[in-house]
Amino acid sequence: FQRIVLAARPKGEVQADNFRLETVDTPAIKDGQLLVRNHYLSLDPYMRGRMSEGKSYAASQALDETMIGGTVGEVIESKHAKFAVGDTVVGTLGWTEVAVSDGSMLRKVDTTHVPESAYLGSVGMPGMTAWYGLNHIMAPKAGETVVVSAASGAVGSVVGQLAKLKGCRVVGIAGGPEKCAYVVNELGFDACVDYKAGNLEADLEAATPDGIDAIFENVGGKVFDAALARTNAFGRIALCGWISGYDGQPTPIDNFRLILINRLTVQGFIVGEQPELWPEGLAELGKLVAEGKLKFRESVAEGLAKAPEAFIGLLKGRNFGKQLVKLG
Ligand code: NDP
Repeated sequence: FQRIVLAARPKGEVQADNFRLETVDTPAIKDGQLLVRNHYLSLDPYMRGRMSEGKSYAASQALDETMIGGTVGEVIESKHAKFAVGDTVVGTLGWTEVAVSDGSMLRKVDTTHVPESAYLGSVGMPGMTAWYGLNHIMAPKAGETVVVSAASGAVGSVVGQLAKLKGCRVVGIAGGPEKCAYVVNELGFDACVDYKAGNLEADLEAATPDGIDAIFENVGGKVFDAALARTNAFGRIALCGWISGYDGQPTPIDNFRLILINRLTVQGFIVGEQPELWPEGLAELGKLVAEGKLKFRESVAEGLAKAPEAFIGLLKGRNFGKQLVKLG
């Protein structure tokens, strides 16, 4: 089978030759182990941090090892009491077609009403990120105005739809007219501002006539600065990501003083640090997807060899919805 390893750490922007595709033999499994054939691989912005040696919130990925990453797949061989051949399992088996697991960090999922790929998106880590930030940090009341950046993406799309279900006025920020049209027409946001159109401050002002009560920040830099400028007193900010700076670009903020002036609460968070909340959050998200109340969109690259290009695209905003790789 094939796998992709980290060949070299990126200097600035990620390049295709930071990765290496390798062919390896399928190992024999021992008692207590199982073999999984991955169907989908999740590509996520956090992987950029892991590729570097610098300080981040998670340990860096080792060179010449399989790239880390979330996966969903099928058990094809099992000597493990809790898993049987044919089970659909979600885990973090990495950028590989086949993997041996001891069952730890592996979860059986039901695909009767939720498609397996959704367990990497709206009903997986990105969905939990949205659920946690919205419910536990922003805690918006009906009628309040909520703004979310990277609004068409895996996390942002869930934030906005959950906030709509709570009766909020929801404004997205996204790149380009196509993504903005999707956010409003398909996801049901009240408005979406295209930050690439050149009038971010004025357009956001027009979309938030009553100011902003809570921000879910995924992008940082100018996008965050524009939202900060519209905050109301005692606003809440869930600081989730800063993708505009992940490749090392400068992302200065002018409006930090508004945290003081408007007595804002700013909370950074890492979704993996609240494992006790995952069962509740995932159950709620799974139910909403099964009922058709939580919509999602996917960008699917075909074949493991396409993963590096798709990952580079994700860091440049070329994805439209949750970025996945479908394995053959
Ligand atoms: P998305 O599916 O939203 O894809 C990333 C999107 O970011 C792009 O499509 C692009 O959309 C947008 N973007 C905005 N500005 C830039 C820029 N300068 N360069 C590149 N892309 C940009 O990804 P996710 O939903 O998986 O992740 C969204 C954010 O949430 C990320 O910052 C990620 O790191 C963070 N995150 C944090 C977690 C946590 O625990 N704290 C957990 C999971 C994710 P557009 O075209 O609209 O600009």
